[in-house]
Amino acid sequence: MAELVPCNCLAAADASGRMIRHKIFRRALGPKDIHISVTYSGICHSDIHTAKAEWGAKAYPLCVGHEILGRVKAVGAEVSKFKVGEAIGVGCFTDSCRTCEECGEGNEQYCSGPGGNHGTYGSARPESLHPGGVSQGGYASDFVVDENYAIRIPEKMDVAAAAPLLCAGITCFSPFIEHGLKAGQTLGVVGLGGLGHMAVKIGKAMGCEVIVFSRSSSKTEDALRLGATKVVISTDAEAMKAVSRTCHFIYNSIAFAHDVQPYLNVLRTRGTMIMVGGVPQGAMPGGTFALIP
Ligand SMILES: [Zn+2]
Ligand SMILES: [Zn+2]
Repeated sequence: MAELVPCNCLAAADASGRMIRHKIFRRALGPKDIHISVTYSGICHSDIHTAKAEWGAKAYPLCVGHEILGRVKAVGAEVSKFKVGEAIGVGCFTDSCRTCEECGEGNEQYCSGPGGNHGTYGSARPESLHPGGVSQGGYASDFVVDENYAIRIPEKMDVAAAAPLLCAGITCFSPFIEHGLKAGQTLGVVGLGGLGHMAVKIGKAMGCEVIVFSRSSSKTEDALRLGATKVVISTDAEAMKAVSRTCHFIYNSIAFAHDVQPYLNVLRTRGTMIMVGGVPQGAMPGGTFALIP
C-alpha cells in the first residue's frame, strides 16, 4: 500500500504572519495522483491575507502558496497526462466535487458541491485527501495532486517566471477573455501591484493600449517598462479629467476601500470595469468579493 508523502514546508505559525519550518504529510499517491517535487512557489498577496487571517480565521500552522511550479517526481498507475520529469504547475484549487453544474461546465473554481471551492490551501477536507484535514499549499518541498487539477508547463518557458501566471496571470487573462477585451482597445489598469503588473504585460501582449492609474509617480518607470503607454496619477483631478471616457476596459486591482467613481468616469460608454482586488468592505456595500471573476 502506498505511503503518505513526507513534506517540508514553510507555514504561518499564527495570525502574525510569522513563518516557521514545519513538516506535514501529503496523501499517499492514488491512481490519478501526481507527486510533484516543488521547485518554485510564487508569493500571492492572497497568501499573506490568508496567513494573517485577514479573510477569516484559519487553523495553524498553515502552509500557503498557490502558484506552484515543479517537476513530476512520480505518477499513480492511471495517470495519463503527465510523465515523470515533466514541468508541471498547480494553481489556486486542487480538486472539486466533479458533479455540480459548475464542475460540469468546466468552472470547477466555482464548485457548488459540498465544501465549495477546494482551495490549494486552507480548505477543510477529509483526512484521506489532506492528512490533518486541511489543504496545505505550495511553500513546500512536495505536493500531491490529481492530474486533472495540474497544468502542463511548456519546457521552453522559464519555469520560475511561469509561477505567477498560475494565480496573478489567470486573474488577468480570464476576465480579459471572458469579458471580450480585444486588440486595439484601450485597457486601464488601476494599481500596479502583483495583479496590475501582470495585467499590463498581458494587455500589451493582446495588442491593447495600456494606461496605468497610480496614486503616485513612483511606479511610472516600471509601468512604462512593462508596456504601458501612459501613467495617470489618480489623485490628479485634471489628469483624470483629461482621460475621461477613454478606456474600453478597466482592470481594477486595488485591494482596499476606495472610490470607484473616478474610474467609472474614465470608462467609455458600454465599457467594462472588472474588480479583482479583494476589498472586504468599503468600496461598495458588501465589498467586492462576489464580483471577483
Ligand atoms: Zn493568488
Ligand atoms: Zn462541483
